Amino acid sequence: MTAIPFDNSYVRLPDRFYAHRTPTPVAAPRLIRSNPALAESLGIDPDWLAGSEGVGMLAGNSLPDGAAPIATAYAGHQFGNFVPQLGDGRAVLLGEVVNRDGRRRDLQLKGAGPTPFSRRGDGRAALGPVLREYLVSEAMAALGIPTTRALAAVTTGESVIRETRLPGAVLARVAASHIRVGTFQYFAARGDTEGVQALADHALARHDPEASSAENPYRALLDGVVARQADLVAAWLLVGFVHGVMNTDNMSVAGETIDYGPCAFLDAYDPNKSFSSIDVHGRYAYGQQPGIALWNLTRLAEALLPLLAEDEGAAIAAAEAALAGFSTRFGAAYRGGLADKLGLSGDRDGAALADDLLTRMAENGADFTLTFRHLCDAAERPEADAEVRDLFVDPTAYDTWAAHWRGRLAEGGRPPASTAAAMRAVNPAFIPRNHHVEAMITAAVERGDFGPFEELLAVLSRPYDDQPAYARYAEAPEGGGADYRTFC
Ligand code: AMP
Ligand code: MG
Ligand code: MG
Repeated sequence: MTAIPFDNSYVRLPDRFYAHRTPTPVAAPRLIRSNPALAESLGIDPDWLAGSEGVGMLAGNSLPDGAAPIATAYAGHQFGNFVPQLGDGRAVLLGEVVNRDGRRRDLQLKGAGPTPFSRRGDGRAALGPVLREYLVSEAMAALGIPTTRALAAVTTGESVIRETRLPGAVLARVAASHIRVGTFQYFAARGDTEGVQALADHALARHDPEASSAENPYRALLDGVVARQADLVAAWLLVGFVHGVMNTDNMSVAGETIDYGPCAFLDAYDPNKSFSSIDVHGRYAYGQQPGIALWNLTRLAEALLPLLAEDEGAAIAAAEAALAGFSTRFGAAYRGGLADKLGLSGDRDGAALADDLLTRMAENGADFTLTFRHLCDAAERPEADAEVRDLFVDPTAYDTWAAHWRGRLAEGGRPPASTAAAMRAVNPAFIPRNHHVEAMITAAVERGDFGPFEELLAVLSRPYDDQPAYARYAEAPEGGGADYRTFC
């Protein structure tokens, strides 16, 4: 019996799609934690995974039977500038597993050593960013947002040199695929239309199998990616997520959140907020994300152009029609989601009321997550208005809005307890608050204490449940967290 039931389709693509590359062994692998439920869903025995053989595999010290390790080639626009040659510089794709629900999943080791695409990098990952990605990706999954998943993380017993020496780690992540907008750009930039087509056929088989039989399968592929990204970015905005580095090489055609680097969550609502120290012009700020997604999708459409129609004019028309679908789809998901957050599902005025609230929140530094979570209580008990209005610099800005909101709720005629319950199912009490994520990383990196990581991970696995014993994880940071900066 093989430990991991691999079935690798990407290596059946032409050789120029990837480089064969075995992970580089590390000195002293130690398991930080593994994800037994995810392992089970992949047909991997969780006890094997957490045992010495599994940990050796997770560290890259041994190769499981059936693995065909590669680093994939891709290009990408980074902060708007095209880089024709990127690729997995510090990640090795071990192979693919068809999981319990029949869907194919990539298993990748991030931080597994240098590859031909590493250029000047060491191919390694530091413990802090590995813990951040583990925690935030699992939190996103629990929030119900499409994302890559964390199967396990190990420390390496080696240091990586960044500004200082830091403990090294490897993250095992699971993805619907690692095909990026930038993967299509890689072939398109080389005038390699056959490569674009082979990749498109592969992506169709994986992500849009029903579209393979459409009249124009490549248009259907583009439509599918547009729809998934529109839904994804709407879901991000509805929980206050800022990806931080939405380069085209960090956008998955599967529609999952991928490549967690300098990501962060809003504390106070501010559509202009960006956290990443390198995003000096706010290109990837919270409120820019829908526009950037469409910009990236336009780059995908350009790469697919030769496949969309033989006639160039017809191809451009098809691309434009597909891209026009973004704002419709995004608008429906975002505005519908906002109405749901206010307990006004199906109310045509719900989104307008939400816009008004968001304006007042921005003007008053109101905490995004707490405002919506406390509104759940206020829907049931008007006395709970006190909790919400306290979040506003000028509480009367809330009072005038709340009068309108109550009017709409009353007209809806739904029992208040049922409205509140529906709202609690879409307004999380717990998100990965930046200050808690930072404290968790400090404890692990500086003191070797993984207790905060474990505790935070457990709390965030039930984001929509009140967990009174862990109420401190729901609190906003002192001073609103306005100065928070991310560096990875
Ligand atoms: P990222 O910002 O992590 O999405 O990475 C952008 C590009 O830089 C990708 O091609 C990565 O593979 C590469 N890269 C990032 N960090 C490293 C590293 N430590 N060693 C080698 N390549 C890296
Ligand atoms: Mg081959
Ligand atoms: Mg990346």
